[in-house]
Amino acid sequence: MIIGVCIKQVPATDTRIRINAEATAILTDDVKFEINPYDEYALEEALRLKQAGKATEVVTFTVGGADADARIRDGLARGADRAVRIDDPALAGSDSLGLARALAAALTAEGVGLVLAGRQAVDGDSSTIPAMIAELMGAAQVSWVDKFEMDGEAFTAQRAAGGGMREVVAGRLPAVVSCDKGLNTPRYATLPGILKAKSKKIAVVGIAELGLSANRVGAGAALVTFSNMGPPPQRPAGRILSGDNATAVAELVRLLRDEAKVI
Ligand SMILES: Cc1cc2nc3c(=O)[nH]c(=O)nc-3n(C[C@H](O)[C@H](O)[C@H](O)COP(=O)(O)OP(=O)(O)OC[C@H]3O[C@@H](n4cnc5c(N)ncnc54)[C@H](O)[C@@H]3O)c2cc1C
Repeated sequence: MIIGVCIKQVPATDTRIRINAEATAILTDDVKFEINPYDEYALEEALRLKQAGKATEVVTFTVGGADADARIRDGLARGADRAVRIDDPALAGSDSLGLARALAAALTAEGVGLVLAGRQAVDGDSSTIPAMIAELMGAAQVSWVDKFEMDGEAFTAQRAAGGGMREVVAGRLPAVVSCDKGLNTPRYATLPGILKAKSKKIAVVGIAELGLSANRVGAGAALVTFSNMGPPPQRPAGRILSGDNATAVAELVRLLRDEAKVI
């Protein structure tokens, strides 16, 4: 059984995000990228399942340009066997559904039995792609999983259900599972792993090779558009109250009551 892992590159968490002049996308020049942190849990789980003899191959799938190859190589260095990168000019302006169609087509073409993805990409934060892939593949779906076990075609997944409650979900492959923090501790790439990754294959495929027509992806097929994005409003500067303690405390109470209206 092949496990497919969806890997997206995202701006590193310490990157200062800047928005384009049209306020519709982030500017990516000078941005340092990394593997989406939740995708690291997905990859680690796939590698552990393979090590336990429950999968024959771990293949990563990415929609993106050649600039994503460094992150894909990182996944290969950690232990993935090979990678598929979907890249096509027709994908420009795709919304989540367009991207999910491309990923589902590639995962299906490779005969993947279990798809592991992150619970959300920490840049877009949509948390939509895994559910869409499952629907398109006609596969079972469990989201935000932090414990996963497989016995043949059967699986059991656990997830936090709010208020400290736990949900245990049982199902059968094929399945799409989105992975949450706590599932495992992702490994780092080792030096031998990095050297080995140099000879592993990244197959670059276009839309036509996946049997998708251009009108199923891209701006023309998008059901939603970004109309605006922007940074949060600047926080007003703090105020320092003057006078002795009694005066300052009285003024603080007045401000909390009359201006902030919190008491
Ligand atoms: C109007 C609009 C226009 C867009 N234009 C473009 C465009 O021109 N080019 C473009 O590439 N995207 C485009 N997108 C897609 C967008 O940037 C998001 O990547 C996409 O909607 C998925 O949402 P998300 O990143 O929040 O992922 P989520 O749904 O939060 O991601 C969950 C998981 O899905 C997997 N995943 C998500 N994205 C990818 C990926 N790219 N490759 C592999 N696995 C993935 C990861 O495992 C991730 O952890 C557009 C979206 C919209 C709404």
